[in-house]
Amino acid sequence: ESSLDPRLFEKKAKPSGQEGFRTNKSFEDLSLSPKLLQNILNKGYQTLTTIQEQSILPLMDGRDMMAISKTGSGKTAAFLIPIIEHALKDPSNYSALIVTPTRELALQIEEEFKSLTQGLHLYSATFIGGTNINSDPQKLARKLQVIVGTPGRLLDLSDRKVLDLRKINTLVLDEFDRMLDMGFVLDVNKLVNRIGKREQTLLFSATLEPNQKKLIDGLLNNPIEVKVDSGS
Ligand code: ADP
Ligand code: MG
Repeated sequence: ESSLDPRLFEKKAKPSGQEGFRTNKSFEDLSLSPKLLQNILNKGYQTLTTIQEQSILPLMDGRDMMAISKTGSGKTAAFLIPIIEHALKDPSNYSALIVTPTRELALQIEEEFKSLTQGLHLYSATFIGGTNINSDPQKLARKLQVIVGTPGRLLDLSDRKVLDLRKINTLVLDEFDRMLDMGFVLDVNKLVNRIGKREQTLLFSATLEPNQKKLIDGLLNNPIEVKVDSGS
């Protein structure tokens, strides 16, 4: 009679190397809109990353989410794919705001959105510092399902009454830790207060500090919490 824990004899999970963020799950398994699926496959994405596997379905269900996963783990598509599905259901009323700390990140997010929405008749625009603000109003003249921007420029446009934040129904705070590091906490709070009531709030970050808990609690409503440990 053995008293050894049988789990000791189980085969260990394959150690994770550089492909450690990949799962075996394919995008075909998500019942996405066919054109969106085709755009994903055209990008060369075959299997979901871990953060995508854990977040896409709950986000499509409309849940709030706090997701922690390190840089390079595929967080952009994790929030854009559910956004695109929601936008396709109601393109004339859907309005998402994606707030990110730097101009480069904002442009990368819009680029990913454009490649994922080819042929879908969804529209986005990016509003960042260092560009001529006088050309922003005309970009806002058409119906945009997705607005991407840095906090300062978004607030500036809101101050000028060019951007009506009350119409936003989905808010994404991307790279939240960096946003705080860069001193944007007051700007983010202002944006959130001007948006007011919304349907869904997503917060994505590479790290989480215990002292941010109260702030985050105030931003999210009954969120799903997803944390992908490094290397998994
Ligand atoms: P993060 O925001 O977590 O730092 P990104 O969203 O910028 O990560 O993605 C990092 C890189 O991985 C990008 O080049 C992106 O195109 C790529 N990528 C994202 N999801 C997948 C996937 N499922 N399969 C292959 N590559 C992916
Ligand atoms: Mg990112």
